[in-house]
Amino acid sequence: EDIRVYEFAEACGKSPAEVITVLFGLGMMVTKNDFLKQDELEILGEEFGIEVTVKDALEDVNYVEDYQEEVDISHFVTRPPVVTIMGHVDHGKTSLLDKIRSSKVASGEAGGITQHISAYTIEQSGQKITFVDTPGHAAFSAMRARGADVTDIVIIVVAADDGVMPQTEEVISHAKASGCPIIVAVNKMDKETANMDMVKAQMAEREMTPVDWGGDVEFIGVSAHTGMGIDDLLENILLQAEILELKADPKAKVKAAVVEASLEKGRGPVATVIVQNGILRLGDNIVCDTTYGRVKAITNDLGKPVKELGLSETGTVLGLNEVPAAGAIMVGQDSDKEARDIATKRAEHARAKELSKSTKVSLEEMSGLIAEGKIKQLPVIIKTDVAGSLEAIKGSLEKIQNDEVKVKVVHAGVGGITESDLVLASASEGCIILGFNVRPTGSVKNKAKADGVTINTYSIIYDLIDDVKDALSGMMSAII
Ligand code: GDP
Repeated sequence: EDIRVYEFAEACGKSPAEVITVLFGLGMMVTKNDFLKQDELEILGEEFGIEVTVKDALEDVNYVEDYQEEVDISHFVTRPPVVTIMGHVDHGKTSLLDKIRSSKVASGEAGGITQHISAYTIEQSGQKITFVDTPGHAAFSAMRARGADVTDIVIIVVAADDGVMPQTEEVISHAKASGCPIIVAVNKMDKETANMDMVKAQMAEREMTPVDWGGDVEFIGVSAHTGMGIDDLLENILLQAEILELKADPKAKVKAAVVEASLEKGRGPVATVIVQNGILRLGDNIVCDTTYGRVKAITNDLGKPVKELGLSETGTVLGLNEVPAAGAIMVGQDSDKEARDIATKRAEHARAKELSKSTKVSLEEMSGLIAEGKIKQLPVIIKTDVAGSLEAIKGSLEKIQNDEVKVKVVHAGVGGITESDLVLASASEGCIILGFNVRPTGSVKNKAKADGVTINTYSIIYDLIDDVKDALSGMMSAII
């Protein structure tokens, strides 16, 4: 599906200019790096008298889909369930997660559980259960949207004294959408004002009818303070898990979902994962979205170094070259070369796609401005990691100009892309930010989106220059 203008041109023996001209004649502005849409492909096919079949360009690097072949049903063993707890704020999600953990971890190991962590495994009646702490139901669904449906069972926590609240309703929707079995934990049953029947009635109104009322949802009264009902809750989870018949192949290449990741001082990128198939071992070559690496260290949920993580187990992994996004899927590869190649290809596609989007937007805006005679220049802000590359880029960009249009460097500096750069960019019409070996932080990225500021990042100077050239030629054709 994803083919860029110049790739298409190459494939049918035309020049990118011919392709661009055809589309331009029909009012479709594209540059040679843009991805062609389905309708554009059809038009081009007709125009050039060739048959266009649409196939996925990412096909060869879709390592997650390919992974299915790794799994062998004859190796299947039962794996522990993975449970997510969600609920209205202050209804006791965190307290419950902490209580379950502290009451189920042997006292000798209690030292490792002082800090709150995003996932852990406990044992109940000799069987394992893994709990994941998702930052919220939005994050839960976002992860599922990315293909990381790690959760097998959802627990909705409702405070017995407070009942159903707005976020409880949202959680119900998200939980239902996930298709996972749901257990309702009615928390704070130690309180005098606790009212289980009220909660049941409110939930029943929202199609969450309790089993003892003729429905199919288990309601378990618990107290994160006293520990009351927790065994009951855990037994219920095991029961649900049994019905689900959760299976996985421990002999397959490892596949694990990232539930949290960050950059830690002195340690580099650290990812908290849950193993879904295979076993994650020290030394494994892994790809995770656009990041890759070799597993240098594994720390289990008690903070202890371990050599491996088994099915549904959780821990943190060191060794990726960059921080992956939560919800990314980590997959083992045969060699470090393979891992690097896949990650690099994916990164390249993601970058090109992003670029194609952003260039288009700013170009469209700009052609309007040009038509009005407002601008004849492309304002840019350049940020780089070191002074040397800054000078090189600035010099090259200032050289690419002609009679109609030229690059105007609004600001050039060494360092990350900051909010102050955004303010600056917003202040000069059509200004784009070019980052070389620097990336905007998540919050800057979001703000840029909100402000409509385009940020393009590069790791190859040639690519940067080339894109700017393309943007300028786009501006020129708009003038003509
Ligand atoms: P979260 O926002 O859902 O994570 O809620 P917290 O775990 O932070 O709990 C919110 C408040 O409720 C805290 O003050 C807890 O001490 C209190 N709380 C949580 N569970 C219980 C419980 O079982 N009984 C009582 N009495 N208070 C609880």
